[in-house]
Amino acid sequence: MNVIARFARRHDLTCRRAVELITDYLDKALPGRQRADVERHLSRCPHCSEYLRQLKATIMAIGRVDSDQLSPDVKNTLILLYRRNEG
Ligand SMILES: [Zn+2]
Repeated sequence: MNVIARFARRHDLTCRRAVELITDYLDKALPGRQRADVERHLSRCPHCSEYLRQLKATIMAIGRVDSDQLSPDVKNTLILLYRRNEG
């Protein structure tokens, strides 16, 4: 499990689920209903939207979806984004 997914386990269930699904979402591997769930979550969650943005940037750079390939800087940024939302 990568560091982001591990962190997201402590976050709310919806963000955790979105993070788990997001690589499949980018691969267009999700069934329609789950895809709609992810899109709905992204539309209202700036943290997961940022995660998606970083993943897309990574895909542009290395040509594939693999969150373990994110740089430590990106991971730290995402952890801070999620942490800011902790209650
Ligand atoms: Zn979220």
